[in-house]
Amino acid sequence: MTGPGTVLELNDLDLLLDFVSDPARATRLRRIGYALDGVELLARERARLLAGMERRWVTAYERAHARYGRGLTPVRGRVCQGCFVTLPTSAAPLPGESQLHQCESCGRLLLWG
Ligand SMILES: [Zn+2]
Repeated sequence: MTGPGTVLELNDLDLLLDFVSDPARATRLRRIGYALDGVELLARERARLLAGMERRWVTAYERAHARYGRGLTPVRGRVCQGCFVTLPTSAAPLPGESQLHQCESCGRLLLWG
């Protein structure tokens, strides 16, 4: 079963990939001495994470990532930090539950804090 940990890892990887894929940022990073030669490894790790996820979460994550630039968003006080909709109490995971949830309003996967 796909847990929030995998999606969090995927989200972090995408942040990194977005960052190094921006030509202006990449140029700036190279100028200050960063060697950006690990991009292929990041992309491979991304594919590996996606391959281990359930199809429906891959679809939901990729759709939100393409649309908003992020596929995962934190929840604070039952408010989705992606679209600022207050989520119903029933949307919250049960204590100890590691099942993923998706915002019914914006479709981002939710990271309950
Ligand atoms: Zn939302």
